[in-house]
Amino acid sequence: MKQQNYIGRFAPSPSGPLHYGSLVAATASYLQAKYNNGKWLVRIEDIDPPREVAGAANEILKTLEHFQFEWDQTPLYQSTRREQYRSAVNSLIQQNQAYACSCSRKDLANNIQKSELGKRYPGTCANKQLNTRETSLNLRLRTKNENINFQDITYGKLRHNLLKEIGDIIIYRKLDLPSYALAVTIDDAYQGITEVVRGYDLLAFTPIQIYLCQLLQLPIPKFLHIPIILNQQGQKLSKQTGADAISKQNCGSVLVQALKDLGQPVPENLEKESSGNDELGQIWNWAIKHWNVDNIPKIKQVYPSQN
Ligand SMILES: [Zn+2]
Repeated sequence: MKQQNYIGRFAPSPSGPLHYGSLVAATASYLQAKYNNGKWLVRIEDIDPPREVAGAANEILKTLEHFQFEWDQTPLYQSTRREQYRSAVNSLIQQNQAYACSCSRKDLANNIQKSELGKRYPGTCANKQLNTRETSLNLRLRTKNENINFQDITYGKLRHNLLKEIGDIIIYRKLDLPSYALAVTIDDAYQGITEVVRGYDLLAFTPIQIYLCQLLQLPIPKFLHIPIILNQQGQKLSKQTGADAISKQNCGSVLVQALKDLGQPVPENLEKESSGNDELGQIWNWAIKHWNVDNIPKIKQVYPSQN
């Protein structure tokens, strides 16, 4: 059944040119929006200046355009939204849901506890009442000993207890840097996103996003995570692992490969006839009409399909 009033988004960070892994994520979110007769928005997540590469945002948009993605609004740049993130964190501080933490890296290394999800902050600064206006300190979100239940469209029912699993997490880094979880929560709500489609590597942020929505009284979107794409060494394709910029040649073949990695049964004749850039429209038409989320592989990661 199709969803009503669907609004989806693709939210790349401009840490380098678009690589194949991001193209697969863009394709999944685009098809899910188009299949549901919804809107598809692009958001540039440029709030982490040290990781950004000059010109990368434009390069990403150009590549998307080349692949004939069509977005329904002017792209939103997170760098223009700092006041909104600040105001959200201030509201959490006023509710006593956030506090300043003065732990150094060394303190954390000595005190951090192991948990199911890896590492857990033990709440060292929870009751110190440090100055939350001091920009040399990180701000942490108070987490609760309560289960957060949600249904991911690909991975099914999930349950997390933030306090037990990760403890009070940083939501605002020193020097005025909002965390991914905070910025994404504020912007998904601001843009009216009804469903978040993104890579499995971001699944761990979902219970935090839901918790922040509850505290800030924002609507909770649906979530659909997709497997992440690995390189031949088994690493996630990313700027850090040296993923190549996507080629603007043979866009048809690249798009067909992305569809196959998303489990969509591309007909052989369409595949054979669609290596070049001219056939992109034809592939999109097929893909939008036949898009089926149930076919997305329910695994955490995939190697790109060979051929
Ligand atoms: Zn601390």
